[in-house]
Amino acid sequence: MKKIPMLDLQLEYQYMKADVDAAIQRCLEHQRWIFGPEVAELEQKIASYLDVKHCIGCSSGTDALVLSLRALAIKVKGQEYWEENDLIITTPFTFTATGDAILRSGARPLFVDIDLGTYNIAPEQIREALDSSPYSGKVVGIVPVHLYGRGCEMGEIIDIAREHGLFVVEDVAQAFGGEWMGKKLGSIGTTGCFSFFPSKNLGGFGDGGMVSTDDADVAEFVRKLIRHGGKDKYNVEHIGYNARLDTLQAAIILAKFIYIDEFNERRIKIAEAYNTGLNEVGGLIVPSSQKLLEEDGKHVYHQYTLRTKGSNREKYQEYLNENGISTMVYYPTPLHEMKVFEQAGSLSFGHLENSEYASKSVFSLPMEPLQSEEATGFIVDTIKHSVNVT
Ligand SMILES: *Cc1c(COP(=O)(O)O)cnc(C)c1O
Repeated sequence: MKKIPMLDLQLEYQYMKADVDAAIQRCLEHQRWIFGPEVAELEQKIASYLDVKHCIGCSSGTDALVLSLRALAIKVKGQEYWEENDLIITTPFTFTATGDAILRSGARPLFVDIDLGTYNIAPEQIREALDSSPYSGKVVGIVPVHLYGRGCEMGEIIDIAREHGLFVVEDVAQAFGGEWMGKKLGSIGTTGCFSFFPSKNLGGFGDGGMVSTDDADVAEFVRKLIRHGGKDKYNVEHIGYNARLDTLQAAIILAKFIYIDEFNERRIKIAEAYNTGLNEVGGLIVPSSQKLLEEDGKHVYHQYTLRTKGSNREKYQEYLNENGISTMVYYPTPLHEMKVFEQAGSLSFGHLENSEYASKSVFSLPMEPLQSEEATGFIVDTIKHSVNVT
């Protein structure tokens, strides 16, 4: 039995082969591997797609976050790094890179719980955290993560940030092309941080990332930081990195960028089929049965994630595995329970019970934009017949 994978990058490559091969061939001809013409072209294309003034290619999504936070420390504090007493609010229910970037910028994360209806950071919890005495006055910014491709409640988050004079760095690693109130995610906060890791909605053939912003100072600091901290090699002002986006990656991503809207629509179609088919399954909570926000934008389903009502997630996964269907858990351990964050003195607001509950009950189904209708139908039917599991 051939197993249905979470993602099938071979299939995607075959679909785009002519465009991708031609793009690589052009790089082989020009041999401009560092800051070649494709890098600037990709930056311009994505800036106009997002409707932002500046985009800066960089080495990964993680580095996009670090670069944003470092640039903001330089701009806001006039220092290379944030300090331990500078707190940055984020969600514990995310990939480790979100919290890791905060630590690497010199600040400490203040973890705030999620809304179980969206799996995203809960604005009312951010408000409460900001008003509670140990933290008020110490928070410098917020890093909302648009988890699984679904936008956070950016209206509320931007209001809170304005009231308290905070920056907002959007982690858009899972949500390229997603929208909130007609605006592209990554164009709303102070900066947006994108990842071109191969499995992301817009993925390269290796690591890559991008920072988007309307702030000219932040853009300039990021541009310096990716090339050792200076305008050129011999006029270095900041503690920089070698964190450029490779020409080759930019060329591949440019070729794949042609397909991003089509592929996101394909993802949405698959998610709709899952939602319709699985809505009635007693033991499961699917995304469509969750909180619907008036301001809900376009969810681009980086992952299709549901959760079990009981403590039988592993049984579901085992049953699906036996039937040739892959599943994955994003994320089994919330960040506040990881050693690195405990040791670094990260802070938690309240008990973070929703994040802990989600980490024990969620699982994701295959979400390959080119997956056949039959495969999607088979997955739905298999889950519908999962009576023995519950
Ligand atoms: C993938 C991811 C990152 C990191 O991106 P890389 O390009 O792998 O460094 C950061 N945050 C989230 C939410 C991610 O999913």
